[in-house]
Amino acid sequence: MSDHPAPPSGTDSTPPATSSSISNPISDQDRYSRQILFPGIGPAGQQLLASAHVAIIGVGATGAATASLLARTGVGTLTLIDRDFVEPSNLQRQVLFDEADARDSLPKTEAARRKIALFNSSIAVHAQIADLVPANIHQLLAPAHLILDATDNFETRYLINDYAVQQSKPWIYAAAIGAYAATMNILPVPSPSALVPGPFVPTACLACIFPKPPTGPVETCDTAGILSTAVNLAASIQTTEALKLLTNQSHLLRRTLLSHDLWSNERSEINTSTPNPGCNVCGQRIFSHLAGEGRPHITLCGRNSVQIHEHHRPVDFVAMRDRLQPHGPVRFNNLLLRFERSPHVLTLFPDGRCLIQGTTDITLARTLYARYIGS
Ligand SMILES: [Zn+2]
Repeated sequence: MSDHPAPPSGTDSTPPATSSSISNPISDQDRYSRQILFPGIGPAGQQLLASAHVAIIGVGATGAATASLLARTGVGTLTLIDRDFVEPSNLQRQVLFDEADARDSLPKTEAARRKIALFNSSIAVHAQIADLVPANIHQLLAPAHLILDATDNFETRYLINDYAVQQSKPWIYAAAIGAYAATMNILPVPSPSALVPGPFVPTACLACIFPKPPTGPVETCDTAGILSTAVNLAASIQTTEALKLLTNQSHLLRRTLLSHDLWSNERSEINTSTPNPGCNVCGQRIFSHLAGEGRPHITLCGRNSVQIHEHHRPVDFVAMRDRLQPHGPVRFNNLLLRFERSPHVLTLFPDGRCLIQGTTDITLARTLYARYIGS
């Protein structure tokens, strides 16, 4: 990957911050000296990192840890994409945020950009306050050579997978919940016109391994809790794999879905070396998520409420009550379940449809749905 093209102008032109210390500038030689000493990187690898552009989708716990690690390694350009704001409950594990960010409810991408500028002002960070959707994914991800997943939901992961396979761009899945971390490298069939480093031997894609999203209630870190150590493990492995890829050492990439529970010490690896020829996405090249199919239909509903129509997940009210009860009052009958999380009230129906009262902000409603009902 010796000649990364420059990112197209006009997408987001946040300039790299300038050094605040003219009298005592920090040279790249000093900054990266220990990393350059590592034989796997060396001076040539460091140059490749400086010319690389990585997009990180989601700047929660995993995304903040990955962004911090990659920024310190000297990846030249980072695009950070997230729809959320910093909250006090983030501070336990989201390493780029502080109390002032939470008090000011700063957008996570902007808080991350400011924090990174304090420890590495020589790289460019584009902060994109956005929900990644089919309508904006091409524009947001076009300049990136590599996409890192740090989202909390399968809907966005399938969208990334469609895009990455269609555009022949590698991406790395990462997830953390409880004490559990999982990650998988996805290398699509390379294309001569792609921006990505290569050559590499394609792996299975996300849809080869998970043809359908999980059904039933899916735990999230807002319901199951999360250890910061699990987050950092996922981020650390994801970042290391990214470094191999960006320095043209794809033969060293892991070709498995790795999962590791740090509390029970259970560890497993599923072989992902071979694409499934019958896979709808990488085999048949049907990109339904990119076409916007299968997304929950969202409508503004009356005064101060948003309705999310999720038809793929019948809801077990008893199980849902058990998981929501620690977070606020829950009442239900056989027709609906009502969960109060001030200032919002979520009303859930047996077919998975949800009415979120207390907001007309579709992005916030999607966040609350993903957080409490599942992704
Ligand atoms: Zn596939």
